[in-house]
Amino acid sequence: MIQSEYPSVLLIYTGGTIGMIENPETGALEAFNFDQLQDNVPELKRFNYRISSYQFNPPIDSSDMEPALWAKLVKIIKYNYDSFDGFVILHGTDTMAYTASALSFMLENLSKPVILTGSQLPIGMLRTDGKENLITSIEIAAAKHPDGTAVVPEVCIFFENHLLRGNRTTKINAENFNAFRSYNFPSLATAGIHIKYEHDRIHKADPSLPLKPHYLYDTNVIILTLFPGIQENMISNILHTPGLRAVVLKTYGSGNAPQKPWFIELLKDATARGIIIVNISQCSTGTVEMERYETGLHLLDAGVISGYDSTVESVLTKLMFLLGHGKSEKEIRHEMSIPVAGEFTKS
Ligand code: ASP
Repeated sequence: MIQSEYPSVLLIYTGGTIGMIENPETGALEAFNFDQLQDNVPELKRFNYRISSYQFNPPIDSSDMEPALWAKLVKIIKYNYDSFDGFVILHGTDTMAYTASALSFMLENLSKPVILTGSQLPIGMLRTDGKENLITSIEIAAAKHPDGTAVVPEVCIFFENHLLRGNRTTKINAENFNAFRSYNFPSLATAGIHIKYEHDRIHKADPSLPLKPHYLYDTNVIILTLFPGIQENMISNILHTPGLRAVVLKTYGSGNAPQKPWFIELLKDATARGIIIVNISQCSTGTVEMERYETGLHLLDAGVISGYDSTVESVLTKLMFLLGHGKSEKEIRHEMSIPVAGEFTKS
């Protein structure tokens, strides 16, 4: 495959609001195809870049995103890896953080940018945020250091002027253009008059290592959010679900949970049966510290492991990824405790 002298970017259009148009009869937003998208962004032609595209057929609302489609994205990137400097994935905002997190684990040794973006308003609308998001994402995906290496060799989300590490990001707003936050890790770049990169925060890749794509996952996982009044029979039923292999337990504050004996016993019994339980906080900012209060210590005793300051999207997709690779329970517990793609900070 030939690498042209111009920067080259592959645009992968999965769907989402950015490429939607209003059905005049029903008023509902429906996906339109990539050529129409290009017609609505004539600015794309002004780039001195080689821009090619791949379109999901049919494009999907990201609520329909599935792990099999993450694997499809990995396959598209792997197949085109040597032909492009970077990749921009146009994606619905609703599950963008899950896809970004999953790709950060599935694309091992990534040394080129993979930038996910989308919009809150369709690109054909006058006040759309889509054009800005798309154009800046393309620029970031093509950016190189003087030695030819990529400026941002990681999976990111670019939205409303902020470049965020994908596996640190969460959708927080269904209304505003500023829809995403990375609460526990600062932005990797900010787009103003110039794009200001925070080079010391951006992952340093080793381009001599070949990309190692991963396609396997196991979806026998569940997210369990605690609340005052949660019932024993409900938790028991969840933890005895046939096939269940891992639980993302959303606890209170710095990783605290009820001290009721039945609750701790249910968790102990589940971990004894090999179910991996990862503790993350319902708070958006801060980290899990199970040693801090007695209410957290009980969880440690029950075999629950810390998710530190991870997002729920990151813990869930990392568990799917590790479980899918046939690793032993001991290996998974170990790999969950070390960041493999900058997904958490160990306190
Ligand atoms: N429902 C849309 C999606 O996630 C919302 C969006 O694109 O912003 O596909």
